[in-house]
Amino acid sequence: MQIEKSQALNKRAQRVLVGGVNSPVRSFRAVGGEPRLISKAKGPRMYDVDGNSYIDYVCSWGALIMGHADETVVKAIKEYSTRGTSYGASTELEIELAETVIKAFPSIKMLRLVNSGTEATMSAIRLARGFTNRSKILKFEGCYHGHADYFLAKAGSGLATYSLPNSAGVPESIVKDTIILPYNDTDKLGETFENFGEEIAAVIVEPVAGNMGVVQAKTDFLFMLRELTQRHGSLLIFDEVITGFRFAYGGAQALFGVTPDLTCLGKIIGGGLPVGAYGGRRDIMSKLAPLGPVYQAGTLSGNPLCMAAGLATLRQLNGRLYADLESRSKRLCDELKRIAEESQFPTVINRVGSMWSLFFTDKDRVENYFDASLNDRELYSRFFWKMMENGVYLPPSPFEAMFVSSAHDDSTIDDTVRAAESSFSKTGNAK
Ligand SMILES: *Cc1c(COP(=O)(O)O)cnc(C)c1O
Repeated sequence: MQIEKSQALNKRAQRVLVGGVNSPVRSFRAVGGEPRLISKAKGPRMYDVDGNSYIDYVCSWGALIMGHADETVVKAIKEYSTRGTSYGASTELEIELAETVIKAFPSIKMLRLVNSGTEATMSAIRLARGFTNRSKILKFEGCYHGHADYFLAKAGSGLATYSLPNSAGVPESIVKDTIILPYNDTDKLGETFENFGEEIAAVIVEPVAGNMGVVQAKTDFLFMLRELTQRHGSLLIFDEVITGFRFAYGGAQALFGVTPDLTCLGKIIGGGLPVGAYGGRRDIMSKLAPLGPVYQAGTLSGNPLCMAAGLATLRQLNGRLYADLESRSKRLCDELKRIAEESQFPTVINRVGSMWSLFFTDKDRVENYFDASLNDRELYSRFFWKMMENGVYLPPSPFEAMFVSSAHDDSTIDDTVRAAESSFSKTGNAK
């Protein structure tokens, strides 16, 4: 495999971009080796600057449910770009996108559009704090909600209820209001609400976690979250930045039958362009400026090109498409599981619809961050590079989700299975 051009560009990138990248995981540090620079992509495939082709299971970290350069999306962007790229004034497209989201999510009565998932979650927290006049927030270990200061926290040691900063530059005074609990742990959740329930502004959770690998919330855990937040006057925020429109027209909330107070969206709703959104109960959303006292704004929010790409994506989603995604993803994961077992690699594959991940672990199940952390990273790295050599692009980190798009047809899945067969056989012994 030729990689000279990628290597040369990586050298250039190192001089002017921090670590050569604009988002840390792209640097491939978790798997070692050098990132490939991408020059184009179409359908399920990406092509690097040296002309190598890869079946892509990153799909812009879940944003591209229709695959790369989807014709309808490209056409919409082309058409709207000739009308101007930003006005700093409202457009019909924003209303249409909001109406489309609200129709899909019965829990969302009003929406605010922003430019990223991070903006959506940080704004939802500010709104929750403004609405409840409380300052504590509760999140779960292994869930990612963007890079706002108060999310970059790790649990304090032992019985300490205070969290510690998980990044330089985050003051202790800011994370002291962030409570962190293990995912899917109903006992700790009950205890925490007993002690601090009246101080908690909001609980934020990924209803299917996608940032410690894929880990599904247990239904009783989600129901308990709903019940406790309601009883204690805290808000329940579902971070559906990945899961929104991923498994159903709607989100994980449609799947589990749990209704949050606020929902955060991103990724798919932008169709590959930068969009985030948060919305929910009308009484809560009405606290937002210009109607209420909680401030939040954005120069490019609701940008017409982003709205056009998002709408062109959402309009193509329907029951049949989700059923196809489900059956192809299931076939892929079943085959991978079979190959892994035949090659005697102990694995757990967690899958919800078209998002999945593969953990190299002796455990039977992966249900929280601790379980996920037992993933054999070294083995993942070796498997990752064998797959790259065989033309399959997996996430360059063992703790990220993989995504199947509607462009991953049966022959793409077959090609992937063949690549996996060869990769497992060359990955070497399990232990
Ligand atoms: C990606 C992601 C975010 C952050 O979105 P950005 O657009 O990267 O800022 C927030 N929450 C979840 C669950 C995500 O997967």
